Amino acid sequence: MSEKINCGHCGMMLYHGEEIARRLYMRAIPSEETVLGFYGNACPRCKGALSLETVKVEIKGRRTHAR
Ligand SMILES: [Zn+2]
Repeated sequence: MSEKINCGHCGMMLYHGEEIARRLYMRAIPSEETVLGFYGNACPRCKGALSLETVKVEIKGRRTHAR
């Protein structure tokens, strides 16, 4: 599973990598909010405020369970 976080204002990619929920398990990154904190909770491109409400979080991966 991989995860991507984009600014909801301008679309700037803020994070792309291993799913954060899995990293949480490994204690590498506590949460999405920590990633936003790396940027001072502001988008480096458009200076828009970053929060879980304003960013787009996309999680991609194979679904192993049947639909
Ligand atoms: Zn932005």
